[in-house]
Amino acid sequence: MLNVTELTCGYGDLIVVDGISFNIKSGEIFGLIGANGAGKTATIMALAGIIPVVGGRVHLNEQDITNLPIHARAKHGIALVPEGRRIFSNLSVDENLTVGGTLQDKMGLSRNRERVFDTFPRIADRQRQLAGSLSGGEQQMLAIGRAMMAEPSVLLIDELSLGLMPIVTDECYRVLEELRKQNLAILLVEQSTERVLQTADKIAVLETGHIVWTGSGSEAAEDDAVVEAYLGLVQR
Ligand code: ATP
Repeated sequence: MLNVTELTCGYGDLIVVDGISFNIKSGEIFGLIGANGAGKTATIMALAGIIPVVGGRVHLNEQDITNLPIHARAKHGIALVPEGRRIFSNLSVDENLTVGGTLQDKMGLSRNRERVFDTFPRIADRQRQLAGSLSGGEQQMLAIGRAMMAEPSVLLIDELSLGLMPIVTDECYRVLEELRKQNLAILLVEQSTERVLQTADKIAVLETGHIVWTGSGSEAAEDDAVVEAYLGLVQR
């Protein structure tokens, strides 16, 4: 479904991702892990169209989307959950969802809102609450819900668990399982959590802009080098 071939990108003249390739099918969670500064965020930003692709190609359902602008990618089904959530604190939960559904007609908006509320009952209970008053976990769920409002087929999630307590992280990961059942292709970037190894169908380890290891989540969890180098802070 999403085919990334020899992707090269960076910030201005600085190349930070140098020719990486991977595929994600619908109903699959692909975990991209790596140390601070490895180029994970740059990868996500290039796929979302926020920074330009310098080399390589990106195909979605066999269509070349390499150079499409952000809104055109959104129309093709790519949605982003950015690092740090970036929800609108001064808007209500419901208003945040409406922003996510900007490209939808009235029927689409209400259909997607219902789907988000079914997936996230905690968000449904807090529709009129200001988003800034939600807990960290609820804000992350709102950020995912806002992305879901565009009815995407590919979800790009940057640092799902950053700053969340383990129990809240577990809840967010349960939601991902739910979204996998809804046939989304999910690219999940994480810096340091064992949870990604337990959940992802495939893992790629990024090191200074190159993929240096690929395998299944369970293979990654069994590989001491992967665990030590990238998840060193995690107790086994
Ligand atoms: P982190 O988990 O810290 O976000 P990352 O793997 O997501 O790390 P990137 O954020 O993609 O990595 O950063 C890759 C490299 O690009 C790093 O060396 C970083 O310092 C550099 N970089 C990040 N943002 C910019 C920017 N706006 N301008 C120039 N260089 C940047």
